[in-house]
Amino acid sequence: MIEKKLETSLERYNKILERVSLSAKKAGRDPASVRVVAVTKTFEQADIRPIITAGHRSFGENRVQEARSKWPFFRALYDDLDLHLIGPLQSNKVKDAVMLFDNIHSIDRSKIAEAVALELLKQPRKIKFFVQVNTGEEPQKSGVLPRDVKSFIKVCRENYKLDVFGLMCIPPHNLNPTSHFEMLSRLANENSVMHLSMGMSEDFEIAIACGATHIRVGSAIFGTRE
Ligand SMILES: *Cc1c(COP(=O)(O)O)cnc(C)c1O
Repeated sequence: MIEKKLETSLERYNKILERVSLSAKKAGRDPASVRVVAVTKTFEQADIRPIITAGHRSFGENRVQEARSKWPFFRALYDDLDLHLIGPLQSNKVKDAVMLFDNIHSIDRSKIAEAVALELLKQPRKIKFFVQVNTGEEPQKSGVLPRDVKSFIKVCRENYKLDVFGLMCIPPHNLNPTSHFEMLSRLANENSVMHLSMGMSEDFEIAIACGATHIRVGSAIFGTRE
């Protein structure tokens, strides 16, 4: 039973890598310019192990507490893990987030940028930050509004000295994401931001065609979540 399940996620993972490579080439891009962030939220160490053993190192979690329960174990075994916080960050979780993650994709307000900057004074770590953009201007979704991106990036860089490494978006559910990916790419260009975190299991090929450098793929590798 367990053997079969493990084998399946590894097979799915290998297929995703092939599809990433194909879509990158189709877009005239180097496949190595697209990083697959394997999203492990709700999955356990036993589910993650075969993918790590296969040599994968970039993983994403959307909750700080959940990540704390899983990842220190693997950190002790692998010194080259590349962990990504892809979910919203609350002020009271900043300390743990800075301790645990190498990349934070959800910088979306001054209060959080400031809290992170202050925490970095206490625990100096080299973290790559992505500003989350609410490209669909959906009220229930976090992220900076497109019209505020320029001023917010300036605040992050000048006031808080954060390395704004990329922009991130989650397009509205069930709509064609292309225009959202294109908007994120344009906003990155306009603000000299070099990386784009966009595309998930259902739409990563479109995201790659639009320039994604980080795709966040969960269910297509690990199976459907409960
Ligand atoms: C869960 C999650 C993903 C992965 O979603 P899948 O559809 O399972 O690939 C990507 N990004 C964020 C922000 C998520 O929370």
